[in-house]
Amino acid sequence: MKPDLYWTVDIGGTKMLMLLIDNQGEVLVKNKYDTPKPSEPAAIVDTISRALLEASKEKNITGADKPSGLGICIAGFVDHHKGLVYQSPNLEWHKPVPLGGILNDQFDCPVLIENDTNAAVVGEVYYGAARGHDNVIYITLSTGIGGGLFLNNRLYRGNEGFAGEIGHTKPFGKGRACKCGGNDCLETWASGSALAGSAATLWDENAVENGHISTSWVFDQADGGNILARSIIDHAANNIGLGLSNLVNILNPSCMVIGGGVAANRTDFFHKIVININKYAIRPAVEKTPLKIVPAALEPEAGIWGIYNLLAGRAV
Ligand SMILES: [Zn+2]
Repeated sequence: MKPDLYWTVDIGGTKMLMLLIDNQGEVLVKNKYDTPKPSEPAAIVDTISRALLEASKEKNITGADKPSGLGICIAGFVDHHKGLVYQSPNLEWHKPVPLGGILNDQFDCPVLIENDTNAAVVGEVYYGAARGHDNVIYITLSTGIGGGLFLNNRLYRGNEGFAGEIGHTKPFGKGRACKCGGNDCLETWASGSALAGSAATLWDENAVENGHISTSWVFDQADGGNILARSIIDHAANNIGLGLSNLVNILNPSCMVIGGGVAANRTDFFHKIVININKYAIRPAVEKTPLKIVPAALEPEAGIWGIYNLLAGRAV
C-alpha cells in the first residue's frame, strides 16, 4: 500500500512554495513559483493548479493514488472552517475569497486553508525552534507583523480563526492608518515597512519611492552610528517588546519564537526585543519557567511544515 501524500502550498507575497510530502515527512517534490502579479484569486488558483499537475507528472501520480489532502497557508484573515479568506492585504484581496471551495471543486480532495502564521507556529513546534513546548507564541516581523498561538498542545485559532493577530493590537503611536482598516496598530509602528516609513518622515520622503530608504537601509544607518536611525529601531524594539509582553502576561507561554526577515540575522535588534519583553512582563511569567525566546528555525518553510502537520491531524 502506498503511503498517504499531502500537497502543501505557501502563498507568499512574491513567491509560492509547493511541497509534496508523504506521511513519513519525506519531501517528494519541492518547487517554487513566482506569485502572479496582480495576485488575483483566479491567477493564484491557476498557479496552484499548475504546481500540483507538474508534481503529479514528475511522480507519476494518478487518480487512484492521489494525495489525501491539500493544505494552503496564506497571509490574511482566514476562516479555516469555511476555507474562506476574508481579507489578504498582502495579495490585495479586499473581499472574501472562497479559496477552499474553489480548490476542493477542482481537485476533489480535502482542502485546508490556514493563516500562514497559524501554520508557522505548528511547524516550529513539531520540527523547529519550539520543539517540546506546549504553550508557544510565534511572531513574524516582516513587511507586516503576524502571530500564531499554540496553547495547551494545540493550535489556538479562536472562534473563527482570527486569533493571534498581534500586529493589529493597538495603539502604539498616533496617526498611522493600517491596512486592516484600523489605526496605529503595532505593525504600523514596528514592522519592516514601518521602520522605513519612520525614516521617510525624518529624511527625504521621496527617497522611499526612489528605493533609497528601505528597512535594511535604516539598519545600515544605525550600524554606521546615525542617532535618528538608532532611535527608530529602539522605538520599534520597545513597541514589539511591549506588545509581546502583554501576550506573555495573558497567556504565560514557555517559548516565544521570533521569525521574519526584519529580526533575522540582526542579533542586536533581537536582543533589544528580548530585553523589552523581560522588562514589561510580570516577573513570574519570564523567570519561573523561565521563558525561552528564540529565533525561528524553519523559515521560509515553517508554514509548510505546519500545514502538513495539520493535514495529518496533529495539533488540532
Ligand atoms: Zn491593523
